[in-house]
Amino acid sequence: MARMLEQNGCEDETQDLEPQGPGRGGARWGPQHAGARELANLYSPGKRCQEWISVALCFSLMAFNFIHLLANFHTGYLWQILLGIVGGILTADFASGLVHWGADTWGSVDLPIVGKAFIRPFREHHIDPTAITRHDFIETNGDNCMITIIPLAHMAFSFLTLSPAEIYHVYPWYCYLYALAIFVTLTNQIHKWSHTYFGLPRLVVLLQDLHIILPRKHHRIHHVSPHETYFCITTGWLNYPLEKLGFWRNLEDLIQGVTGEKPRSDDLKWAQKVK
Ligand SMILES: [Zn+2]
Ligand SMILES: [Zn+2]
Repeated sequence: MARMLEQNGCEDETQDLEPQGPGRGGARWGPQHAGARELANLYSPGKRCQEWISVALCFSLMAFNFIHLLANFHTGYLWQILLGIVGGILTADFASGLVHWGADTWGSVDLPIVGKAFIRPFREHHIDPTAITRHDFIETNGDNCMITIIPLAHMAFSFLTLSPAEIYHVYPWYCYLYALAIFVTLTNQIHKWSHTYFGLPRLVVLLQDLHIILPRKHHRIHHVSPHETYFCITTGWLNYPLEKLGFWRNLEDLIQGVTGEKPRSDDLKWAQKVK
């Protein structure tokens, strides 16, 4: 279904993004959908606190490392530095796809700890895709900031302890790591922008138009029920090649063959919840 839309559905700006089929008789999608309301109510003060700490730590470390990268900049390994940056962005895009695919396709909101904290937002996003545009900066970026704290802290520690000669040699590797960390951290912000149709800063629209970050039309392909393709949400560069390779489909067949679990069963359950 989504594969057909890949060819023509994304051309249409007014294309209907609601989940199809289930949910007739109640709100079929959006904030009034019963499942969406239930999922939104599971956002707790403890979770909010975790997000605040993660954002504060992550952005402090990012600024610290940026200053040290600038201070140590040299043109000795220019090509390696450029390759490192592109490689970091590609890795972040792939990681966004893998995590998004994993959370969309497997597991359930009922799982202890991870269910409510990490799977809930993915379920909410499919039945209320615009909820993300109402989330503030902390809720949008908290989880991704938490992921990058440890690698950023390790880099900061290295800048404080390595000699200038040692830093010179690992510099392209650090550029890779830093680009990876920046794009992983900003993935959900980029994803939020891809759902925002009014009031975006001009620079963001320009970056979307140049496909340096996830463009709005491109991401609409994922939001067609049953949400089975175009999982990469950082730049989206890998979506087309992975779709052509049948990457996600093959991985799902393999996992279903081994475990017997049906892909997207929990996602479908939430989409059908109307009371
Ligand atoms: Zn999704
Ligand atoms: Zn989305």
